Amino acid sequence: MAKRDYYEVLGVEKGAGADEVKSAYRKLALKHHPDRNPGDTSAEEKFKEATEAYEVLSDPKKRQAYDQFGHAGVDPSAGMGGFGGAEGFDLSDALRAFMRDFGGGGFDIFGDMGGRGRTVDRRGGDRQIRLELSLPEIAKGVKKKLRVSKMVRCGNCAGKGSNSGAGNQTCPTCQGAGQIRQVQRSFFGQMVNVTTCRTCSGEGEIVKDPCSTCGGEGRVKGSETAEVKIPAGVMEGNYLRLSGLGDAGIRNAEAGDLLVVITEKEDDRFRRHGDDLLLELPLHPHQMALGGKVDVDTLEGSASLEVPQGSQNGKVLRMRGLGLPGLHGKGAGDLLVRLHVIIPTKLSGEEKSLYEKLGQVTGEKPPKLHKGFFEKMKDAFTGS
Ligand SMILES: [Zn+2]
Ligand SMILES: [Zn+2]
Repeated sequence: MAKRDYYEVLGVEKGAGADEVKSAYRKLALKHHPDRNPGDTSAEEKFKEATEAYEVLSDPKKRQAYDQFGHAGVDPSAGMGGFGGAEGFDLSDALRAFMRDFGGGGFDIFGDMGGRGRTVDRRGGDRQIRLELSLPEIAKGVKKKLRVSKMVRCGNCAGKGSNSGAGNQTCPTCQGAGQIRQVQRSFFGQMVNVTTCRTCSGEGEIVKDPCSTCGGEGRVKGSETAEVKIPAGVMEGNYLRLSGLGDAGIRNAEAGDLLVVITEKEDDRFRRHGDDLLLELPLHPHQMALGGKVDVDTLEGSASLEVPQGSQNGKVLRMRGLGLPGLHGKGAGDLLVRLHVIIPTKLSGEEKSLYEKLGQVTGEKPPKLHKGFFEKMKDAFTGS
């Protein structure tokens, strides 16, 4: 296949200026770039063709030779004969040429960024920390000071990455592309491997005179104390986002957030069910039989509970409003008290004689199970 005229390939006039050549090529290269057209060999050919044309027309010397002698003036294989024209560029040459002049040949350039398309996120990362709270703390809300390990601004350079103010220079490893592209030819075809440049972490630039403490990043490992105010009524798994208290950004870029995730310390008296609390209350047989007032623990201290006469084992009594406050001040849960009769295992002489007397009065005929006994045992929280 005869080579097309380079001006025709780029779609520019013979007298086109350097900028015009460059922008015409950029348009074509982006359109036919292999990253955008995976597996499309005709796109690959067009990409190579455009790049070859650009390589000649963007170089004043080569362009002059081309203008004078045509392809023969610039084609290294011309005149050797027998090969039916030069093969031109191979793809890796073309990709290298493209990356050299337009930066990051990877996907980032295809975003609608315009110009050099590096989109390295210099913002600091979010940090997550778990905060264990007791039920009384949850009931009242609490202020805590947390020590957070994270990236902090470098004190030596005030986060600028350098003290001399020499500014940045193009990364020598990737020539500003931010990526290292390796093209390997194998039996199966072409393998393109793109990795983020390690020298510049993908930024394409490095600090000319980096700070000796942070190596130019503007931040170092450290820790900071954060004060956090937890509202009453939070639950396991709730979290607070503290904006800007995460990792410091690279060279004074925006910091990440700190997420404080609540975990609940197990309480040895109360079990939580939403905003309700459940308390297991042991009672003597006579307290269940006769009923009466008993003192029960609450989160705040204690309260008096009226046990109805003839209460059965497992009965649940509800004390309104003595549970946890709702989050954002919405209502409050209840304290559920489940009654458990405890049969004495040791009796004093007097108790023994009283039980014997009670036995004579009651007789030996077994009592009947009361109605709904099993339902009540099923779920304390649905009891009354
Ligand atoms: Zn520093
Ligand atoms: Zn680099």
